[in-house]
Amino acid sequence: MPDSSEATTPLSEKPWYECQRCGNCCRWPGDVHITETETHTLSAYLGITPHSFVQDYTRLNAKRTGLSIIDKPNGECIFLEGVNTCTIQAVKPIHCHGFPNAWNFPGWRDHCEAIEQPPKN
Ligand code: SF4
Repeated sequence: MPDSSEATTPLSEKPWYECQRCGNCCRWPGDVHITETETHTLSAYLGITPHSFVQDYTRLNAKRTGLSIIDKPNGECIFLEGVNTCTIQAVKPIHCHGFPNAWNFPGWRDHCEAIEQPPKN
């Protein structure tokens, strides 16, 4: 997934994009940032220790400022199953929740199937 710091627009006057769960954003290689709190939440969900989670499912992000979830060799998220099943959906990182409404990047509409809705007030 591309870096969330690449582009932002104020939320108030933007249209709302309703996710269609196509899974395309889960197949883009790049950083999926996770916080320290999320490492604990995710490890508990997976039934492993936080240390094991960090060792087995994370790497240093591109800017070397924190951790990201690792990709499969083909670039898709390690937690993506099939076309569009997120195996950590119940506890997925805020980075994943935020796309495309809280953050996106130039050209994102070419890949994301979310449907534009009127701005939320
Ligand atoms: S690419 Fe867009 S529509 Fe598809 S799953 Fe991600 S946010 Fe939803």
